[in-house]
Amino acid sequence: MAEHATEKVKAEAVQKIESFEVLPKLVVFDLDYTLWPFYCECRSKRETPSLYPHAKGILMALKQKGIDVAIASRSPTSDIANAFLNKLNLNSMFVAKEIFSSWTHKTDHFHRIHSTTGVPFSSMLFFDDENRNIQAVSKMGVTSILVGNGVNLGSLTEGLAQFARNWNASQKNKQKWLTDYSNKPNTSNHAP
Ligand SMILES: [Mg+2]
Repeated sequence: MAEHATEKVKAEAVQKIESFEVLPKLVVFDLDYTLWPFYCECRSKRETPSLYPHAKGILMALKQKGIDVAIASRSPTSDIANAFLNKLNLNSMFVAKEIFSSWTHKTDHFHRIHSTTGVPFSSMLFFDDENRNIQAVSKMGVTSILVGNGVNLGSLTEGLAQFARNWNASQKNKQKWLTDYSNKPNTSNHAP
């Protein structure tokens, strides 16, 4: 994708991010059919890959707004995935990269990402194209968004909105718990 088009997507993504009051600390992406439109196990390391059109602008916007990004991929060919991330100049962007095949639907990947970064599951947002991964990871407390045709500005907005709803719901539950179970007036309000 041309440089100016990526800059345009980045600017739009920054605007979207700035329109939300609560934001994730970490956004985790699948690789195959989420960041790029192929299974990397079917490709050769010698090839020059390309991302979905909005992917790079979105990654750059998140970084600019101080939101960390990470990878959770069940690809059996981490060597090809890493070679492609290098060719795309993306490797230095990620605070965690978990690329390994697993029978679990990425729950192992997320436990590792949590221990590397220290970010709680409730502060993470995840994008993936496979429903079974979305189901398993959302049960851990991660806001998880199914993408249909790669990650794009639409799915970013959907993800940020869902994250904010989940966050506000959990704050309300906390508040309710404090009201129901505390005899003292609530003086320790937990700000996000
Ligand atoms: Mg995938």
